[in-house]
Amino acid sequence: MDDCQRLLTTVRGCRLCAANLPLGPRPLLQLASGAGILIAGQAPGRKAHESGVPFDDASGERLRQWLGVDRTCFYDAERIAILPMGLCYPGSGKSGDLPPRPECAPVWRSALLAQLPQLHLTLVLGQYALGWHLPRYRTLTAAVADWQATLPAGVLALPHPSPRNQRWLAQHPWFAAEPLPVLQARVARLCSVP
Ligand code: SF4
Repeated sequence: MDDCQRLLTTVRGCRLCAANLPLGPRPLLQLASGAGILIAGQAPGRKAHESGVPFDDASGERLRQWLGVDRTCFYDAERIAILPMGLCYPGSGKSGDLPPRPECAPVWRSALLAQLPQLHLTLVLGQYALGWHLPRYRTLTAAVADWQATLPAGVLALPHPSPRNQRWLAQHPWFAAEPLPVLQARVARLCSVP
């Protein structure tokens, strides 16, 4: 068992904020030391908590479409790491899922990121991941719009791929025309099997 697997075993046994998790702990992450791409999301939803598979829904389908990858590539930990800011489903409130548990990232995130020596591209989904990976931007839209500055440094903010986010995509048609083709070309290079 290597360091990465040892850490994964420890993280998967975490119960640090169990008292605040309505369905209990079930850390959901995908990580292996060969991954060149990181999807830095918010926290698993209820469906992912129940199935144990992140992004196995309409948002995941759209995200895979944006990246230009199939499910085999997407769920290959040696190519793509999936590491949300909160690793367990945090429960939901009146206006949707609650924020990631605040205990999680300070305890686990740096150690998990240190297990990605081949990382070349971080995809930032959501305000909490923005605060960690691109803290100089106040809004996600500002970070997405500045893609020509962030992408050379290996970080790209994305709008939420949820089908409910259709309005943002309609209001920002440059997203599909400009950064997406560049993203797809970069992902294809990083995901190609040598
Ligand atoms: S959300 Fe994070 S800190 Fe809380 S139990 Fe899950 S892994 Fe542990």
